[in-house]
Amino acid sequence: AGGPARLSLEDCLKPVAYQPQAWSMVERYYRRLEQDWPHMMAGNETIQLKISLGGVSLLLQGTVDRLDKTSDGGILAILFRTEDGPLPDAAGLRRDHALVIYHLLVAATYPLKRPVRLQEWWLPLDQNVTIELSEDEYRHNLSGLREPAQALARGEVMARPGLHCDTCPFKYHGCPVYTHEETQTDAEDFTSSLSDGKIPPRQWIFKV
Ligand code: SF4
Repeated sequence: AGGPARLSLEDCLKPVAYQPQAWSMVERYYRRLEQDWPHMMAGNETIQLKISLGGVSLLLQGTVDRLDKTSDGGILAILFRTEDGPLPDAAGLRRDHALVIYHLLVAATYPLKRPVRLQEWWLPLDQNVTIELSEDEYRHNLSGLREPAQALARGEVMARPGLHCDTCPFKYHGCPVYTHEETQTDAEDFTSSLSDGKIPPRQWIFKV
């Protein structure tokens, strides 16, 4: 036995004792984990994948908060949301480019697990939205990433620094403004056919 059986709810709540909203989220998550534990495959899993998109080679990287196996032989990738809302609708999530990247990462890492489903679990609202992309939707959404990838390779995307940079996930992971502060990455992780782009391709480590 593991998970909730080894770590009490009281211990989980101690770090958020004076944060009522966080307290509620932790408690909800714990209660659901008690039910879901037999299906859980992994938590906080970082997945990487090298792909070529529109002639641009990319190293995609994403961290999935939880991966559960489903009773039909598939896999459910759960992404926690801690904002207040509003809750997105399924149609919006089906068009979300970030979610298609998560789908790509999970599908490539778990090729024997089908179907792939994606869930945003909004902890403050205690609600979730789950989607399963059709093959057509998946291919269409992926093709929608080609043009932005090529524009980035040509150096046509302008970064606009400001206070918002402090919370930007791209700050040290691809943003050209902060490249001099960026953690050095392995040059072999990346090669690009568009090597004359303004942004050195090695710095294109996207975290979604
Ligand atoms: S860190 Fe870069 S990409 Fe992020 S908000 Fe700032 S300028 Fe834009």
